[in-house]
Amino acid sequence: MNATHYIDGRRAPSEGHATIDVIDPSDGQKFGEIARGTAADVDAAVRAARRAIGDNFDGPWGAKTALERGRLLAKLGAAVMEHHEELAQLEARDTGKALRVARNDATALARYMEYYAGACDKLHGDTLPYERGYTVLTVRNPHGVTGHIVPWNYPMQIAGRSVGAALAAGNACVVKPAEDASLSLLRLAEIATEVGFPAGALNVVTGYGKEAGAALCAHPGIDHISFTGSTMTGRSVGLAAAERHCPVTLELGGKSPQIVFADADLDAAEPVLVNAIIQNAGQTCSAGSRVLVEQSIYEEVVQRLAKRFAAVKAGTPAEDLDMGPLINEKQFRQVRDMVATAEASGLKVAARGTVSPNASATGYYQEAVLFRDVPHDSDLAQREVFGPVLAVMPFKDEAEAVRLANGTDFGLVAGVWTRDGARQLRMAHKLHCGQVFVNNYGAAGGVELPFGGVKSSGFGREKGFEALLGFTTLKTIAIKHG
Ligand code: NDP
Repeated sequence: MNATHYIDGRRAPSEGHATIDVIDPSDGQKFGEIARGTAADVDAAVRAARRAIGDNFDGPWGAKTALERGRLLAKLGAAVMEHHEELAQLEARDTGKALRVARNDATALARYMEYYAGACDKLHGDTLPYERGYTVLTVRNPHGVTGHIVPWNYPMQIAGRSVGAALAAGNACVVKPAEDASLSLLRLAEIATEVGFPAGALNVVTGYGKEAGAALCAHPGIDHISFTGSTMTGRSVGLAAAERHCPVTLELGGKSPQIVFADADLDAAEPVLVNAIIQNAGQTCSAGSRVLVEQSIYEEVVQRLAKRFAAVKAGTPAEDLDMGPLINEKQFRQVRDMVATAEASGLKVAARGTVSPNASATGYYQEAVLFRDVPHDSDLAQREVFGPVLAVMPFKDEAEAVRLANGTDFGLVAGVWTRDGARQLRMAHKLHCGQVFVNNYGAAGGVELPFGGVKSSGFGREKGFEALLGFTTLKTIAIKHG
């Protein structure tokens, strides 16, 4: 594997020729290299994207009609399905995720392309009532060149949702994947060229966030930034964007509650409550990492969850068990430390899962851990662990459930389990977050469903038709004709 970026329709070496090792999380061993991007590489990618757009939207990509963009996106979606297994295997090796999850990610990537292919020619402005003698209309234009900073947890899904929408709206894209998970997106850009996207429409610059990522955010040729990642890095991306008055979308994780009332269908809820935290080994921004349970059924729910947690197995991606390893050593230590600190502070572990005997001792395997009676003000109830660690706590009534659910810095997703229709609606309205699931939970996925947060979970919306609007600027044209 050559360590290259993907710029202007071809693999391109880094200006400095420096590389970063690619580590297999399942054994901690190096299995390749990626290019360590510099500000000059980012500049080359932005220039290529600008050429694709053209000075007056007259370049090979900028001049495409909505219909033509839609057809190319549809071809890309079909090509992703043709390369489905190749992409899934690459992703599983690069990120350590269980093959089943990687396959699901590849399918979701194709779905984003299909969805936005169909949406291209449905994106339009409006006519507005105004004073007599006027016709007023709005038109939606692409921003131009959009920057996409993608984390390591779901590279294909997260790039799919933001790049799919940006391309559909007519932008050219420069993507900076996480240094730990770049391979699938390099391949995606190559496939885009193969199906006929003009050179420069989709560029990928690999490298460190503090180098290539920061250079992308600071580049004057970037007209919109879409960032998914940690709250801390999101703040610096937001500040860099503010320096240039550049619009930005920030999707920054959460501490999402799943609220179980006494009248809930527990048989239906139980597997969903567990999957919402162990999926992708807990490395999901919308993971359901807190379970709030009505007091009268608290013991029963804890016992049910404990039984399930004890059966959760982590193993190699090829074993395709419940979870793979965590992404890297830093994340592994962070999760271990949070679990150890919680235990040392007296928090009670109700159950632990296991790690497969086939897992390498040098891999980053973390067993699932269930903590019970977790105080609302503890770190475990307030901070994102980003690992397979669930905090369970009781509540006495609806008002307390709302207070606890809303009582963190985050507001991304919430789940409510109850058969009472009026309560379903009351809760949905009172929960301060971007998505509420009733009697189900959708960690990741949901191509059609607008997604994003409030408070420290960020702002702006990805996914669905709503995301398309964010990748456009609205122009109002007022014509006085008498
Ligand atoms: P970061 O937020 O640091 O990384 C996300 C992306 O931003 C990566 O592509 C990263 O590149 C890039 N990046 C890092 N620094 C900058 C910068 N100064 N300017 C522009 N881009 C930058 O997350 P981490 O990977 O460090 O993970 C830390 C924690 O963040 C996790 O433990 C987890 O809690 C949370 N997280 C949340 C995610 C979510 O979906 N909400 C996703 C991933 C992590 P690179 O990786 O190459 O440095």
